[in-house]
Amino acid sequence: MENNDAPQPVSLAEPVLGREETQAVVDVLESGWITMGSKVVAFEKAFADLHHCPQALAVSTCTAALHLALRALGIGPRRKVLVPSMTFVATVAPVLYVGATPVFVDIVAPSIPHMDLEHAESLVDGDTAAVIIMHYGGYIIDVEPWRRFADKHGLALIEDAAHALAGKERWDVADAAVFSFFANKNITTAEGGILLAREQAVLDKARNLRGHAMTTGTLDRDKGHAFSYDVLDVGYNYRIDEIRAALGLAQLERLPQMQCKRKELLSLYRALLRNRGLERMLLFDDSWPCACHIMPVLLDEGQDREALMPRMRELGIQTSIHYPCVHKFTAYDGKYGGPPLPRTEAFARRELSLPLHPNLSREDVVRVVDGLLA
Ligand SMILES: *Cc1c(COP(=O)(O)O)cnc(C)c1O
Repeated sequence: MENNDAPQPVSLAEPVLGREETQAVVDVLESGWITMGSKVVAFEKAFADLHHCPQALAVSTCTAALHLALRALGIGPRRKVLVPSMTFVATVAPVLYVGATPVFVDIVAPSIPHMDLEHAESLVDGDTAAVIIMHYGGYIIDVEPWRRFADKHGLALIEDAAHALAGKERWDVADAAVFSFFANKNITTAEGGILLAREQAVLDKARNLRGHAMTTGTLDRDKGHAFSYDVLDVGYNYRIDEIRAALGLAQLERLPQMQCKRKELLSLYRALLRNRGLERMLLFDDSWPCACHIMPVLLDEGQDREALMPRMRELGIQTSIHYPCVHKFTAYDGKYGGPPLPRTEAFARRELSLPLHPNLSREDVVRVVDGLLA
């Protein structure tokens, strides 16, 4: 029996999919050309334009994009890569795919959970080859100081921009940037990712590796440009298909409207928390440039998160944690040496993520903040 008193559930994240997405998928299926075709090319072009870059490389996932970035930038065995621990594990795993060693760097402060440049500086040695920064929550890191740091030490600089879709103007300062189109990201293709690169040669190398490092692609063979091919390297199948690319194009059309809604909801959260005397829960500050991906708050030291989360669930409000420390996971703990990360660990204990997606109403946000205080 349905319980009419049960509150409408408020989910943490939700994709916004409408008739346009359905039609885009149907059109591809009816066209008979379902992978590596004109939709992939058009999606890459539209994404590159949005980020003021000449080209982009669409792939199967953001994790794949990061793997390709590391390979294309020549990061390999016996090299070290500086990484945040306050991130999703997919920022770090590709470092191990290429045989390099992750070196975990602490965050700036509990209210600024970005990787700390000073700490990174103290960890560089002769084996360090790259640094990966992650725009936590969509709050944009100023990349210029990281560029100077990378240049000073001869490192490649990669942005994990899975949270930071269209969150700033310039994407040609780092050597590469990667984005995710997983179901809970700001736009989705169900699964998918994309790579931007500062240098054409890096993008070309990644493009080659995406499709088994073959000398010709599916489109060329279809056009009759080539009858055979060579294989130049050990490549991967990290292709994306036409169905997903068409979804991505439809989502990009919807993006301005969705971002507007995310921004509005984020401001409302900040205003409500401040009005109720909970300013200390807020991260960053109101003017920090942000792609508005998630709504993290900082609980008081000693506040019982394990009790709060189920209590909110009973009110129909889904919450989450972004993130457990990567360096504490079984697969990583104690394996790669590295210094203690007290600020990261304290943040991981205190962080709580509240629902944020364009389908939320203002009333939903009020309910969430009420739930936090209940
Ligand atoms: C989602 C996410 C990824 C991985 O994206 P996939 O497309 O699922 O591979 C990587 N890094 C961060 C910070 C993420 O949030």
